[in-house]
Amino acid sequence: MSRPAIWEALRDALVALERDGLARRLRTLDAPCGPLARVDGRDLVSFCSNDYLGLAADPALTEALVDGARRWGVGSGAAHLVSGHLTPHAALEARLAAFTGAERALLFSTGYMANLGIVPALVGRGDAVFADRLNHASLIDAAQLARAEHRRYPHGDVDALDRLLAASTAKRKLILTDAVFSMDGDLAPLPELLALAERHDAWLVVDDAHGFGVLGPQGRGSLAHFGLPPSPRLIHMGTLGKAAGAAGAFVAGAAVVIEWLLQRARTYIFTTGGSPAIACALLAALDLIERGDTRRDHLQRLTAQLRSGLAETRWQLLPSPTAIQPVLVGDNHEVLRVAAALFERGLWVPAIRPPTVPAGGARLRVSLSAAHTPEQVARLIDALRSLA
Ligand SMILES: *Cc1c(COP(=O)(O)O)cnc(C)c1O
Repeated sequence: MSRPAIWEALRDALVALERDGLARRLRTLDAPCGPLARVDGRDLVSFCSNDYLGLAADPALTEALVDGARRWGVGSGAAHLVSGHLTPHAALEARLAAFTGAERALLFSTGYMANLGIVPALVGRGDAVFADRLNHASLIDAAQLARAEHRRYPHGDVDALDRLLAASTAKRKLILTDAVFSMDGDLAPLPELLALAERHDAWLVVDDAHGFGVLGPQGRGSLAHFGLPPSPRLIHMGTLGKAAGAAGAFVAGAAVVIEWLLQRARTYIFTTGGSPAIACALLAALDLIERGDTRRDHLQRLTAQLRSGLAETRWQLLPSPTAIQPVLVGDNHEVLRVAAALFERGLWVPAIRPPTVPAGGARLRVSLSAAHTPEQVARLIDALRSLA
């Protein structure tokens, strides 16, 4: 039997990925999410996860999940609008709305799905999306799916965005941005973006995947961090698999917008509701987030420790104030060599390459967690200094 041509084409493309230092590798973790990982029988200190507050394997969340499963079962059995919306989901939505200061919140199964749902529900042909160049892949895909005109502005460039908005004749305008950029760790200028939304009669959708739980008073997120008042133009999306330690996502905003998303967001309507037991775990996570100043202070200290420890080395840290601390390397093969050398020393830091970051922007993405100790961060600093 002859091999289909597509099979050969895929094999050639895989060889090219390997040659260009772009092949990715799936590693199986033989331990719960936390600072201590076990991979291929080796013990490692991991700087990979987005579990910023160390909640993913917290006993209180585990307990709430087990109790929740005993009371409500494991699966929801149907889409939310059919019969998959259980009391813990409703309680979690009410809690998220109150916590973020919004009129109403809606749960989605993942952050990726939330973004793919929100944007096409709000804009379409004849409308325009204005997106930061460094936005997360899910926001880029969401803009494509919406079939609206897709304009991208240089990273954080408020003046360029202002000009694009002023020149646009689109019916509806929607500004899309990460709040904390996932591969750079810096913050979007949200007050300026909201002012532009008001001036140009646009919506502002903020993806707070890396700010929710970490930034702002009690971890209420990036909008609270900037002290932004509720605005009918603001749509706040947050994910629940990062600082909140579980899985899922939410969109919070004005009641009319949320009702529209419930009626029209296809990734909300045509998918099974999340596990009610996970909703119970998330209610426990919100308690810990709200009372989590000690964890957030510790995370802040670790961030400062890493930055000052690497300040006078050849490793160029990007100017990030958050727990995402990228070490810019540039070349794909070199970043793989550095990551492999760290791995040999028992330190696991992901090498991020295109297309996740722009060509020539390969980097180590150090991700800190409140579960790390200062000693673990010191080990990373020492290893990077000796590799420099
Ligand atoms: C992780 C991430 C998402 C996707 O969220 P999931 O819940 O993991 O699907 C969306 N946006 C940004 C900025 C992210 O970092």
